[in-house]
Amino acid sequence: MKPSIVILATGGTIAGISQAPAQAGYRPGKVDVRQMIQSVPDLDKLARITGEQIANVGSQDISFDILIRLACRINQLLNQNDIHGIVVTHGTDTMEETAFFLNLTVNSPKTVVMTGAMRPANAISADGPLNLFNAVAVAADPDARERGVLVVMNDRIHGAHSLTKTNTTSVETFLSPVNGLVGTVNYGKSVYFRYPFRRHTHLSEFSSRFCQFPYPALPRVDIVYACIDMPPDLIDCSVACGAAGIVIAGDGNGNMNQATVKNAAKKAAQGIFIVRSSRVPTGTVGRNVEVDDDACGFIVSDELNPAKARILLMLALLKPTGRQQIQQLFYAY
Ligand code: GLU
Repeated sequence: MKPSIVILATGGTIAGISQAPAQAGYRPGKVDVRQMIQSVPDLDKLARITGEQIANVGSQDISFDILIRLACRINQLLNQNDIHGIVVTHGTDTMEETAFFLNLTVNSPKTVVMTGAMRPANAISADGPLNLFNAVAVAADPDARERGVLVVMNDRIHGAHSLTKTNTTSVETFLSPVNGLVGTVNYGKSVYFRYPFRRHTHLSEFSSRFCQFPYPALPRVDIVYACIDMPPDLIDCSVACGAAGIVIAGDGNGNMNQATVKNAAKKAAQGIFIVRSSRVPTGTVGRNVEVDDDACGFIVSDELNPAKARILLMLALLKPTGRQQIQQLFYAY
C-alpha cells in the first residue's frame, strides 16, 4: 500500500503567480494547495496525497501564530497511525527559520519535509512542481526518517539545522555550509549522506509539551546587526521595547565594537539574555575568543545563524532557565 502524505501549504513563490511568464514581479500566495497538487504529474504514484491550507502568505509574513498552528497540526497528524509523513510548502525567504522551529517542536520520528520554489507557478521553467514531487518522494521514503526536519529544493536534501538561503533569485539558493547536505534527490530517487547530529524533533526537549493548550506566548527576542561604528544604544531600544533576549548578528566571530560590548554586558547583568551570533554566512562563534563572554555574561550561538539563534532562545526562555543551561542548549541543538 502507498504511504499517506499530507501537504500543508503556507504560501510563498511556489504558490505565486506573475503577470507574465518572463517577468520578475509577482504576487506570492495566489495558488491554493489543491491547484498545487494538481500541477504535479504522477504525484499520486508516489503516495496517497491530501492537502490542507494553513496560510497563504509570502514567507516574510509568516508569524509565530502561524508557526505554532503549523507545528501543532503536524503533531496532531503524525500521531495518526495512517499518516506516514508531511510536506510543508513555504516561501524560501524564511524557510530556514520555520524548518528550525519545526525541528525543535515536531514530536515524531516520522518525516517532515519542507519545500518551495524560487520561480512563480506560471514562470518559464518554474521549479515548484519538481521540488514538490521530490519533497513528497522524500517524505514517503522510510530511509528519510530520524533525520530531523528536511528541506528539499533543487535536488538537494538539507537538514533544518544547517541550511541557509544564499541567493536572492537563483534556484540554487540553499546551501548547508557548516555541516553539508543530508542527501540528494533526483526525480524522486534519494541518496543519503548523513544523519544530523544535533538534537531534533521527538528527541528535543521542546517538542513534547509544546502543543498542549493553551499555546505558549513566546517572549520577544530581537536581532541587532553589528557594523562599523555601531550605535550601542540599539540595545537600549530593544530592551525598552520589551525584549527578554537579544541576538547580536556580530562581525566575524560574533564581534561588536567596545561600546556595544560594554552596554550589552550591562544589560546581561540586569537579566537580559545576550547571544553572540555572526553576520558571516559560515563558521562557528566560539566562547571567549575576542570577547570575554565569561566576564560579560554572554552566550555564544555556536553554529546557529542569528535568525535560528533567535528561535532557540525564544523557546529556551519559555521556562525559567539559567545562562549556563542556555549555553548548553546552543551546543546541543
Ligand atoms: N518572498 C517570497 C517568500 O518567501 C519569495 C521567496 C520564495 O518563496 O521563493 O515567500
